[in-house]
Amino acid sequence: MQVADRIERVNESIVNFYLVEEAGRVTVVDAGMPGNWNLLVDGLARIGRTLADVETVLLTHAHADHVGIAERIRTAAPCDARIHEADLEYLLAGKRPAGGIDRGFSLGMLRMGLYGLRKGGTRMAPVTEAATFAHDDVLDLPGSPRVVHAPGHTPGACALLFEERGALMTGDTLNTLDVVRGRTGPRISPFWSDRSMAVASLARLDGLPARVVLPGHGEPFVGTPSEAVALARAAEKGA
Ligand SMILES: [Zn+2]
Repeated sequence: MQVADRIERVNESIVNFYLVEEAGRVTVVDAGMPGNWNLLVDGLARIGRTLADVETVLLTHAHADHVGIAERIRTAAPCDARIHEADLEYLLAGKRPAGGIDRGFSLGMLRMGLYGLRKGGTRMAPVTEAATFAHDDVLDLPGSPRVVHAPGHTPGACALLFEERGALMTGDTLNTLDVVRGRTGPRISPFWSDRSMAVASLARLDGLPARVVLPGHGEPFVGTPSEAVALARAAEKGA
């Protein structure tokens, strides 16, 4: 489904990733779980592209449900994979950064857990070679994404601002679905390396110029990042 100018959302269950196209070149942002290969192929077909058009895989952070098919894309396209420098060691080692999880439970969590088991999303598939990006870098890729480092979910967690497309991809720095408790609407992820840092990093998203917020989990939020951040902060108070 197209969610912004030349930005296609690829979605199944809790998994979101995005295809950003410009003049036949495609960037894949995040890479789901290992069992999500067909989602990618189908998404590319919807926008009239193939794997050969993929030039880069950008990873918002090193978590198993975001890097699942990154290595396969990287070697099959073939193309580059890139991640923030603070998450690189975890990506290369296929090792989850240390951290914790909010307590809670929902039936939705059970369904999502089963989906993760089925799609191999419980173990991170390492990427053997990746380049890095840093805060404020503007990448020479479709849509000219600007890197917004917003640590806390992981040390290298980033959002990507596609200003000319009016879209902010938040990865898991801001979600619209709590995959543990099943609650919807803008909020931080229930998984974190440093919870208070994840809340503080919302300030990095506040005020960014975009009309739609595209999260790592949950539905697109139609509104500005400031509106999404205000709701995420309110959800924190109510938590
Ligand atoms: Zn994550």
